[in-house]
Amino acid sequence: MEIILLASGSTGNCALIRAGQGTDQVVVALDCGIAQRTGRQRAMDVGLSLTSVDAVLLSHAHSDHSQNVVAVAARAEAPLYAHKLVPDQRRHSGEAERKRRRVEFRPFLADQSFDIGPLKVTPIELPHDAVPTHGFIFEADGQKAGFFTDLGTTAPLADGVLDGMDSLVLEFNYCPEMLRNGPYPRILQHRISAGLGHISNHQAADLLRECCPKSLRRLTLAHLSKKNNRPALALQVATDALREIGRPDIKIEAAPPHHTRRAGPDPVELNYENKL
Ligand SMILES: [Zn+2]
Ligand SMILES: [Zn+2]
Repeated sequence: MEIILLASGSTGNCALIRAGQGTDQVVVALDCGIAQRTGRQRAMDVGLSLTSVDAVLLSHAHSDHSQNVVAVAARAEAPLYAHKLVPDQRRHSGEAERKRRRVEFRPFLADQSFDIGPLKVTPIELPHDAVPTHGFIFEADGQKAGFFTDLGTTAPLADGVLDGMDSLVLEFNYCPEMLRNGPYPRILQHRISAGLGHISNHQAADLLRECCPKSLRRLTLAHLSKKNNRPALALQVATDALREIGRPDIKIEAAPPHHTRRAGPDPVELNYENKL
């Protein structure tokens, strides 16, 4: 199994999950809140095709995740998996748009696993200001991965949810000090930090201190705020936490934020690969 982040952050999110071997292999797009052309280019850069994904999975209705999910599913003639209550009035992912583009809708429920070929998907409901929002546990090829961004608290990830994971993509959205002293108005600062927005570097690090599974080998810091965080800062907080719990062996990387420019000559910067 392989998880590839094509874009991560409030200006657009899109990831690909590749699972299985040979004719059994599937590629699933998780969210698409970036321009299709950008997504296609970045997928091509890692040898995959956004136009022939086997399924599209939607975490929640915020446009930085949902904007192009129906378009991608329509183009690939693939089904769209989303919670049945993802608001239907949403222009980009709602029922009218799905029907207009003849996209098959396969609703899921929290905690109820389903299979996309060899990939087992378990949605986990997250506290966030688009209700409902889900993170996911992916299992395939004898490996287990977690993907959790857009959550106001880490409470749903305690109590063994991370157990047995080989890799984890976890939100490290903001540095509290940068948020406090940054350009955002008070009301937006509150929206981010009051339990239904995003988690800070420190909240994510505390989750690792308390719940980091023995099996974990790779950690990807995701959905970093462009204005209220810096990759080096988030990496430092994560590294310190893992060192404290005696796990300096875990490989840590920060997913790059979304770039509006087209993929350049530096694929490492633009196309983050998280190979299990
Ligand atoms: Zn988001
Ligand atoms: Zn969101």
